[in-house]
Amino acid sequence: MTIAKRIDGKAKAEQLSESIAKQTAILKEQHGIQPGLAVVIIGEDPASQIYVRNKKRRAESCGFFSVQHTLEATITQSNVLQLIDDLNNDDAIHGILVQLPLPDHLDEQTVTQAILPSKDVDGFHLINIGKLTAGHTADAFVPCTPAGCMLMIEDELGSDLSGKNAVVIGRSNIVGKPMASLLMQRNATVTIAHSRTRDLPDVVGRADIVVAAVGRPNMITGDWVKPGAVVIDVGINRVETTVDGETKSKLTGDVDYDAVCKVAGAVTPVPGGVGPMTITMLMFNTLRSARLSAGLAD
Ligand code: NAD
Repeated sequence: MTIAKRIDGKAKAEQLSESIAKQTAILKEQHGIQPGLAVVIIGEDPASQIYVRNKKRRAESCGFFSVQHTLEATITQSNVLQLIDDLNNDDAIHGILVQLPLPDHLDEQTVTQAILPSKDVDGFHLINIGKLTAGHTADAFVPCTPAGCMLMIEDELGSDLSGKNAVVIGRSNIVGKPMASLLMQRNATVTIAHSRTRDLPDVVGRADIVVAAVGRPNMITGDWVKPGAVVIDVGINRVETTVDGETKSKLTGDVDYDAVCKVAGAVTPVPGGVGPMTITMLMFNTLRSARLSAGLAD
């Protein structure tokens, strides 16, 4: 029986964060620039509060200047846009992130598109999406989750994926579509599957690389996966389990980890896989923005 390699996203993210911290110290010392990240959170969504706290902590541990703007859920759109305009014009800020989802009365597109593309470290601005799709990534910001997935895939298979079949399950703008663009740039033959795809197990079964970004717990089972495939689990699902008669909630991915491990070549766990890499890629993008603002190459 095969036992797949467990891809340790947490360890890789820590390694990368150390390298970002070192490069930040050099940037400060040689050019007097400290990368600055502004995180805007609107409302009281508990999951968002945790994400934002983690991002601020990680930014500080990388040696960044970090500010958090916590806004009331009832704030008007024009006040949000005013804050973004102020941050766009603030030279100490190189990256701006507005934590999603937004309260219903705010328009996500209007808010995310108000961020200057050169400070859009989430990679959600249409300019950055367009550059990624066109393969002009020299000064574009790639969305953090697919960027982190790509690094883990490269670790397993190298940077040239010629001849490999990749299946991305999910077609969202923040994960599925940019993931497919990145894989295509590395010469993989890419299929994007989604809720209207027929015979998903058959589609997945032909893939050397599977990226699951659906939001359905344990959907990808062992019998779907091609032997030896690299499986990246983006899904974050909270499920209830009963241990010793006590109901507890735990995080699980879109992939049935234990079953898929018996077939695949390498699999990311949840938690400890894609999640930690996502947050580190935000720091990577912010450092990159600071360097680009000073006219420094990557
Ligand atoms: P989304 O809801 O925008 O997209 C889900 C996609 O899944 C859609 O494109 C839909 O077509 C597809 N889908 C739904 N049901 C399907 C089915 N039965 N078969 C095939 N495809 C189906 O979600 P998203 O924002 O892309 O996020 C996907 C998952 O990844 C969620 O669990 C989310 O929490 C998680 N996520 C994790 C990270 C991270 O850092 N680990 C970051 C972003 C998103």
